[in-house]
Amino acid sequence: MIISIASGKGGTGKTLVATSLALALKDSHKVRLLDGDVEEPNDHVFLKPNISGSQPVFIPVPKIDEAKCTRCGKCAEVCAYNAIAVLGEHVLTFPELCHGCGACSYLCPEKAITEENRQTGVVEWGDAEGIDFVQGRLTVGEAMAPPAIRKVKELGDSDGINIIDSPPGTSCPVVTAIEGSDFCLLVTEPTPFGLSDLVLAVETVRQLGIACGVVLNRAGVGDNSVEDYCRKENIPVLLTIPLETEIARLYSKGITLVEGMSEWKERFVGLYEKIKEIVDARNRSLKR
Ligand code: SF4
Ligand code: SF4
Repeated sequence: MIISIASGKGGTGKTLVATSLALALKDSHKVRLLDGDVEEPNDHVFLKPNISGSQPVFIPVPKIDEAKCTRCGKCAEVCAYNAIAVLGEHVLTFPELCHGCGACSYLCPEKAITEENRQTGVVEWGDAEGIDFVQGRLTVGEAMAPPAIRKVKELGDSDGINIIDSPPGTSCPVVTAIEGSDFCLLVTEPTPFGLSDLVLAVETVRQLGIACGVVLNRAGVGDNSVEDYCRKENIPVLLTIPLETEIARLYSKGITLVEGMSEWKERFVGLYEKIKEIVDARNRSLKR
């Protein structure tokens, strides 16, 4: 089971949900938390894992052999990311823009392009009191998040429950993080901003064909527009977390909801059961 946790924007409570869900399930299931928010991973702040291993993340970028190159321009033509330019007698490469797709080296008629590794980040793994923990971290100043996110996902557990904490937003890194999930939990807040970002997140998830549900965080602030939208779009609101001083206080101290307020454990277990019901029903209907 792969459950990704996403939100249209940062600061809606994704980490709070991911860490509490993992903690609530760890006594009854094999749980692996994959922090794919590689630009700013912070599940470790709450789970305090013992990191036992790490691995660098590389992408292959082109290296031009000027002696073989005829400046035909084919490589610049095929690069969808403008990471190669042929200017007069020179072929310039821009490794920070390169996605490592390999098209240029494959299509170079003179075989003048080889590939060299460029490190974009690191993945780390360990244990957080019974939760298998994996996180990716981008190198400071690095913009190319998808390779590190893919590496984090490669370390998923094929037997247990994988909870993927995705980057915020709706762009390439989020798509990389959530694609292939059985379910995507969208965390939002009941404000016009929350609704606007939720609408974009729902569009993304639907295009990927992933079932989704909503966690409404900081309920009590704002208006009913998110709930009205969910009702209209037939998206279940699976959990509501109220705006409470105690919850904010715990969060600011790096304490998870489940650890700080024990009554939340059952609520998060209930959240998982609802997700499982939806996923099972969907799988049954797909088999028919
Ligand atoms: S495709 Fe190959 S030969 Fe042509 S410009 Fe690029 S590197 Fe040079
Ligand atoms: S590997 Fe792909 S993205 Fe990188 S320069 Fe070549 S064509 Fe462009």
